[in-house]
Amino acid sequence: MTFRLTCPVCGARDVYEFRYGGQERGPRPEQAQLSSDEHFRWTQFRMTRPEPQEEWWYHTGGCGVWFTTWRNPATNREEPPHEVERG
Ligand SMILES: [Zn+2]
Repeated sequence: MTFRLTCPVCGARDVYEFRYGGQERGPRPEQAQLSSDEHFRWTQFRMTRPEPQEEWWYHTGGCGVWFTTWRNPATNREEPPHEVERG
């Protein structure tokens, strides 16, 4: 299966030009401030839901830039995050 990603430098390209770098999870917390269970969860747990998630990608077959984009793993299309419903 193939899909396209948009490199901020080169534009839309086939996914085979990129290497997946994982989900964007914000800054790494200080290990000294975490319990061993919290540290394990932060480093080992990944949750993939059928909704847009922010991901790191590396353009190996192009400019060599790391960037983040929002992609829906259910459709493999780049999508902005869903609006959060407010009550
Ligand atoms: Zn590029």
